[in-house]
Amino acid sequence: MPPIRPDSPVVLSFDVEEQHRIEAAARLTVGEVTRRTYADRMEASTRRILAQLADAGAVASFYVVGEIAVSHPNLVRDIAAAGHEIGSHSWDHQRVNRFTPDGFREDLKRSVDALEQAAGVKVAGFRAPTFSVTKGSAWAVDVLAESGLRYDSSVFPVRHDRYGVPAAPRTPFILQGERGSILELPPATYRVMGQNLPVAGGGYFRLFPLSLLRAWVNQLAKGPDPVGMLYFHPWEFDPGQPQLPLGRLSRARTYVGISSTTRRLGSLLKRYAGRFRRAIDVVTDLEAKRDQLPRFKLVG
Ligand SMILES: [Zn+2]
Repeated sequence: MPPIRPDSPVVLSFDVEEQHRIEAAARLTVGEVTRRTYADRMEASTRRILAQLADAGAVASFYVVGEIAVSHPNLVRDIAAAGHEIGSHSWDHQRVNRFTPDGFREDLKRSVDALEQAAGVKVAGFRAPTFSVTKGSAWAVDVLAESGLRYDSSVFPVRHDRYGVPAAPRTPFILQGERGSILELPPATYRVMGQNLPVAGGGYFRLFPLSLLRAWVNQLAKGPDPVGMLYFHPWEFDPGQPQLPLGRLSRARTYVGISSTTRRLGSLLKRYAGRFRRAIDVVTDLEAKRDQLPRFKLVG
């Protein structure tokens, strides 16, 4: 077994969206006043994260919903100006599988154009809402390959009721479509008893002892080209927010542990100091050895 590489990069990624856009709330009608509240809190929470990253001297990748580039252009500009990466998190947080290929192409272009205009920098990466690049939307790989983007981070190699491609590689790979391909940076997983656990964010990050997260990131570092891609949302750092009227299971999944997320991020920033890289910088290194990366084809 190859030795653990303690220098493998850790990528902090933030999917920037207001809380009412989350998948668990898809069937709720959320009024205008509540939407505005969530928009204000999203901005405040994102700015607190920016301050925390600045204190630690860490850089991160922010995948932002395109509509936010229009509603909060200063926020998008300030994220980029602080040295972080701006990527696309779709136009208005529709799952990829709800589109036709043409519809997805337009949605992606609209979000990338709006973000580039607000940020003043080029967008290179995409994170699908709810990791919705799956077998059911395999056609999306060609749209991504032909979009001019340099990488995607939407294929989660886990078994989950809402998303996931359990057979996909756990380390960076070339995601092959029918006509083209795109470099894929999968979120971190932990392999145990033949299964990949989605430990890179959400309830796993919020609930489990951080020593376990370190073990997970270290396990990943034993493989080729390990990247500890972690993902968070600004609303996970906002324990005072009004809660959505979700069902019991969704409510537990959504809100559990959020009172300690800021402190936990602080521990990660200390523990992995010097290892934080933006996804785009990791991608630049990987592009130089593109031919050596594993290939994986999503078959619908
Ligand atoms: Zn999202």
